[in-house]
Amino acid sequence: MGQNRWISGYIIATIITFLQCEDIKMRDSPRQSCINLNVRENIMRSSLECPKAESPHQECSPEQYSKSRWGTDNYVEYQPGSTSSKIILLVPHGGYEMPKHIPKRVNGCRINGECIYSHSCPNVGESTDCSAGWTGSDEYTLKLSNAIADSVHTITGYRPHLIANHLYRDRMDANRPMSKATFMDQNAMTVWQEFHSYIEEAKSIVGTGLLLDIHAHGRRNNWIQLGYTLPGDDLNSETLLNASKSSVYHRSLHTGVPFEEFLRGNESLGGLFESNGYITVPAPGLKGPGTEPFLAGGYNTMRHGSRHQGTIDAIQVEFPQYIRRYWKRYAHSVAESIVEFTKRWYQ
Ligand SMILES: [Zn+2]
Repeated sequence: MGQNRWISGYIIATIITFLQCEDIKMRDSPRQSCINLNVRENIMRSSLECPKAESPHQECSPEQYSKSRWGTDNYVEYQPGSTSSKIILLVPHGGYEMPKHIPKRVNGCRINGECIYSHSCPNVGESTDCSAGWTGSDEYTLKLSNAIADSVHTITGYRPHLIANHLYRDRMDANRPMSKATFMDQNAMTVWQEFHSYIEEAKSIVGTGLLLDIHAHGRRNNWIQLGYTLPGDDLNSETLLNASKSSVYHRSLHTGVPFEEFLRGNESLGGLFESNGYITVPAPGLKGPGTEPFLAGGYNTMRHGSRHQGTIDAIQVEFPQYIRRYWKRYAHSVAESIVEFTKRWYQ
């Protein structure tokens, strides 16, 4: 009788464990926060030890997730890298937090011919000619970036720095100038400033290195697009000469090879992605985007790269949907190409 009661208790505990795990799994998406996992992990450890199929590696590796630093209300995450790392990863559009106290960015207004991005604009929501623009998330970019960081760490022994914005893009866009990014909401401005100050901190540790601003595009061409702040029309030309207009200007001065080779040769980032099977632009096999839409690089690439100043180069990397959605399958080979590129040019 006592044994039956024990068996019944065990079965009930197992069912409860399963239900809790399923619930946790479902709630894991879309918030991709390490700190939440900390809480969940503690809950699991203190109760019924769920299987760990969904955590914590999916989000961030066990050795680093407890080491993240967080900004106000945990909206910005900084995973400090190894001191010898030459790589910084940014994830500005992978967040899903939608706090009620930060209003949605919709439309600004035009005053004296100039767009003013502010929640205190008159007729907010009616004027569309100073729109906040696209405010959807770059799906799976946080999972992909964490997995790339894990693989770079595994391959080289050095972990990249990673800075992620966890706010949904309709509250704050971490790849825009401050006014357009925040519509001058004080809480959003704090998060925006923290995002960029963590980047500045990582840059000062790295010294000379490479920043990759990780994004998503949904076009059918399935290309990886690399934005060096060079417009598609420039890339469509046969030979690239003007390195000073690029966000990798600093390193281009010291490569000892023509700019064309650094940007589109076999050992360029595009060339190394291409040799791993990814159609990439620019690259030796696809020098320019032709007539396809192309993103040359936004605020982060312009501000944090070396086009205007500094010793950190930046590239905006737009990943197609299949690489992001199946990040578990592709992150390692993507990381291999990044490691090859940094070994060749940044060490
Ligand atoms: Zn983006």
